[in-house]
Amino acid sequence: MSADTDVRIQGAPSGSGGNRREEMLREIGISRLWRLRTATATQEPEVVATSPQSPLVAREPAVIEAPVAQSPAAVTAVSHEPARIARMDWPTLKNSVAACTACGLYAKRKQTVFGVGDEHADWLFVGEGPGAEEDEQGEPFVGQAGQLLDNMLAAIALKRGTNVYIANIVKCRPPGNRNPQQEEAQACAHYLHRQIDLLQPKLIIALGKVAAVNLLGRDASIASLRGQVHDYRGIPLIVTYHPAYLLRTLPDKAKAWEDLCFAVNAMQKSLN
Ligand code: URA
Ligand code: SF4
Repeated sequence: MSADTDVRIQGAPSGSGGNRREEMLREIGISRLWRLRTATATQEPEVVATSPQSPLVAREPAVIEAPVAQSPAAVTAVSHEPARIARMDWPTLKNSVAACTACGLYAKRKQTVFGVGDEHADWLFVGEGPGAEEDEQGEPFVGQAGQLLDNMLAAIALKRGTNVYIANIVKCRPPGNRNPQQEEAQACAHYLHRQIDLLQPKLIIALGKVAAVNLLGRDASIASLRGQVHDYRGIPLIVTYHPAYLLRTLPDKAKAWEDLCFAVNAMQKSLN
């Protein structure tokens, strides 16, 4: 955690709302409600990460992507050339990904997994790449790790599709769920960069090492990258554990919760 952030444990509130939050926190491995506040601004009201009235979630209704209609203009513009990708609108970008053969991962995919959510989201979560379920369904984080991600979102009063966008470093499933190779991540990065340019999120959360290393462009451990606000082309970026890792390593769920509190704090600063 940075020096000016103080995360403290509080007793859970009473009432059914409190019970629901309790359930979510238990799901991500925390049995009590955590609050955070900035130590430097003690006279200001405390920010409660789970507040349903949080200004961080006051947004327009969800825009969940529908399959893209193949307009003739979009079809002719489909490309995987970086210079063209950098100028694409959403429909052309989606069609280009759907038709992409720029790296070897295209060969074994059932379908591409473009990304999902609110195209005006303040929050962008970036994972590694589709697994088997995602390859089947065409949507990121719909398997077990995805359920945990949804619970993590709920714990800070966020919901998939509402002010949240979810994407991956690679859009096609690496066979056997291996990590994407560097050439694959690099080939696919042009699409993610364009998604981020179109989204202009206020905060990016890199989920796990593959996302962090590829977005930050340098190799480092999650442990060394957590608790700091990094920069991705002028957008604040923070790093936390991948939900699939958390499912295997229960003790680190508490650290993930600290990271979520840190993220809420970073978002407040980014919005100001
Ligand atoms: N893991 C990821 O990194 N992304 C997904 O979409 C699913 C699992
Ligand atoms: Fe294209 Fe990305 Fe799929 Fe590779 S992983 S084929 S670059 S969409």
